[in-house]
Amino acid sequence: MALLRQPLLLLSRSTPVKSLVSTMPVSAGIVRRYVPGETTAAVVEASAAEIADGIRVTLDFLGEDTTDLEQAEATVAAYVEVLRELSTRGLTRQAEVSVKLSAIGQALPDNGEKIALENARAICRAARNAGTTVTLDMEDHTTTDSTLAILRDLRKDFPETGAVLQAYLHRTEDDCRALAYEGSRVRLCKGAYNEPEDVAFQDDLEVDRSYVRCLKVLLAGQGYPMIATHDPRLVEIASSLASRHGREPGSYEFQMLYGIRPDEQRRLARAGETVRVYIPYGTEWYGYLMRRLAERPQNLSFFLRSLISRK
Ligand SMILES: Cc1cc2nc3c(=O)[nH]c(=O)nc-3n(C[C@H](O)[C@H](O)[C@H](O)COP(=O)(O)OP(=O)(O)OC[C@H]3O[C@@H](n4cnc5c(N)ncnc54)[C@H](O)[C@@H]3O)c2cc1C
Repeated sequence: MALLRQPLLLLSRSTPVKSLVSTMPVSAGIVRRYVPGETTAAVVEASAAEIADGIRVTLDFLGEDTTDLEQAEATVAAYVEVLRELSTRGLTRQAEVSVKLSAIGQALPDNGEKIALENARAICRAARNAGTTVTLDMEDHTTTDSTLAILRDLRKDFPETGAVLQAYLHRTEDDCRALAYEGSRVRLCKGAYNEPEDVAFQDDLEVDRSYVRCLKVLLAGQGYPMIATHDPRLVEIASSLASRHGREPGSYEFQMLYGIRPDEQRRLARAGETVRVYIPYGTEWYGYLMRRLAERPQNLSFFLRSLISRK
């Protein structure tokens, strides 16, 4: 199954396959498992249900690698709309948003970084007005420096903006040290892209070891670690490291993806931990779905059945 990971990640960037797969309705079993809907109304409903169950949420309006200025602006408008709706429903104490910079202009050929920064500022402003925060997702390694530079700029005006670091990159332990300062919200994940061996660990065990080293840095530091993993061993290690570092629940949080290990999400929340679920929504679910399949190729037959039956 591990052999399927790389081809699936390569397919996640294939336009012809995307065109074929995207003809599946969002209601198709495999898509609905990971994406609750396409609209603001659908994601706000899904958020309200999680929050009623004691789980916080971070919402991701799906889309990435945008090379169209209007589409980048439409993405900003979608975030502003969902933040307004969350605020109207009184949900912003428990709900924030996650943003991919490549969806708001970072990949544009001229001034991409500047456009992404301005667009991110607009979303941060809307989030602050709504009483909540933004976390910048991390994409493939070619964007890491640019994303961290934009984060530094954003944090001058919006210090509450969250960062994401990926344990599979060799550089990440150092990045954790640089970001483990007071008030700094940092999500640590394993990393979801197809990365070459000169920048990333290839072996799962090496990635896990790196994750633990990074966890130690973040939990010993002054920031607010957001521990994003479904891996039962890493959840256990994180819990014991948190108590070893004298961290009370609430001075860090666990994060998982919508539809993955929901029972574990509830178990942790009932045990008094802060748990946040990442909820993607919108029509551009193809790249996200392919990364989830690459992590869990066992779901491939379910995926193919959904594709053939379109249900
Ligand atoms: C809140 C959150 C935000 C994230 N943000 C980013 C980001 O900005 N950038 C980035 O590169 N990556 C991001 N990721 C993805 C992350 O990098 C991993 O690819 C993903 O979380 C799988 O790694 P894992 O730690 O769960 O461990 P794994 O070893 O992949 O999985 C551990 C266990 O979790 C379960 N599991 C994992 N994946 C699935 C699945 N698809 N379906 C069913 N069960 C599954 C299985 O039981 C598996 O044995 C994010 C993940 C989370 C939880």
